[in-house]
Amino acid sequence: MALYVQKFGGTSVGSVERIEAVAEKIKRFRDEGHDIVVAVSAMSGETNRLVALSQAISNQPSPRELDVLLATGEQVTIALLCMALQKLDCDAVSYTGTQVPILTDSAHTKARIQSIDTVKMRRDLDAGKVVVVAGFQGVDQFGSITTLGRGGSDTTGVALAAALKADECQIYTDVDGVYTTDPRVVKSARRLDRITFEEMLEMASQGSKVLQIRAVEFAGKYNVPLRVLSSFEDGPGTLISLEEEDIMEQPIISGIAFNRDEAKLTVLGVPDVPGVASRILGPISAANIEVDMIVQNVAEDRTTDFTFTVHRNDYDKVMKVIEQVADDLGAVEVKGDNTICKVSIVGVGMRSHAGVASKMFDALASESINIQMISTSEIKIAVVIAEKYLELAVRTLHAAFGLSDESLV
Ligand code: ASP
Ligand code: MG
Repeated sequence: MALYVQKFGGTSVGSVERIEAVAEKIKRFRDEGHDIVVAVSAMSGETNRLVALSQAISNQPSPRELDVLLATGEQVTIALLCMALQKLDCDAVSYTGTQVPILTDSAHTKARIQSIDTVKMRRDLDAGKVVVVAGFQGVDQFGSITTLGRGGSDTTGVALAAALKADECQIYTDVDGVYTTDPRVVKSARRLDRITFEEMLEMASQGSKVLQIRAVEFAGKYNVPLRVLSSFEDGPGTLISLEEEDIMEQPIISGIAFNRDEAKLTVLGVPDVPGVASRILGPISAANIEVDMIVQNVAEDRTTDFTFTVHRNDYDKVMKVIEQVADDLGAVEVKGDNTICKVSIVGVGMRSHAGVASKMFDALASESINIQMISTSEIKIAVVIAEKYLELAVRTLHAAFGLSDESLV
């Protein structure tokens, strides 16, 4: 019999009825003889409600106290879920992060897990109990409650699975798996049976929001097989694991990810001397702003153009910083565009196939979509295009790489 860690997200436990349905699901696994450890999120909307309460008092609440507040959401769910399991005659016990304990660093609101004590959980499993752990929270060395960042329950689930050496970490959510792309954009998008950690990581960091990036990183690092499934329907979901031996069987492209919220800045006529890139990007990273793509041209006339992308929310702030830097550097001018988006194709099959990039560019050209920037990795090609072409680009690429579910085309 297997040991599963099952994580249920906010919508899956969004009401008493849903919590009872989750309890029934867990009970079915118990009845098959499996050992179950559960990680749960707060009921849907609850964490936002708590954030709003804190904002009503202060727009810069103490991070320590914010964590004390936010951790209450998950504490409600663990108690209710245990009650629901007990009502079904399924023995269950709840633990907050502090009680496990899940030890983290002291970076409040974005803490990292350092270690998990499995003694109590093992004892309970041996006694035939279902163990229900509050997601998203831990405790630091001083005994203060910490949280792991929004969406952090996924990370709790994976970390528990790694610590317990579980057979699988199952992430139950409101979709029935990972899709070739967002089905709201492409109706014929297909559920993937399996995908590798690497691909999932690229999909997540390129904008696919099914799983928290950190959770996927963690799962890859500790080789915890992850399965994304629906809380509401039965089905196999999508298995995320190490690359299969049989590379010939791999499709060239597994999925298409996209990100709408991008903005682009270009510093024109930057002197071509050492240290310029660091002088442009230094103040941006000092302001804690993440830079995504970076492109610098070959210098023809002892000056170069330097272009990079940031999250659209940071655009105004970055523009201010960069105008100052450009002045200091004696650059010609700064141009910006906050109506761009990024579309990426992802697949480990790229490693063993040539011509993937030109196929992508051909497909976009056939729809007269202009590519403004390109960036590549071993298993990803991303392009920046005008936002108004996003849907068209995703649909075109989805078809060009044969990703559609034929029965839906
Ligand atoms: N409740 C937390 C949030 O809403 C953690 C989670 O749901 O994963 O971000
Ligand atoms: Mg969530």
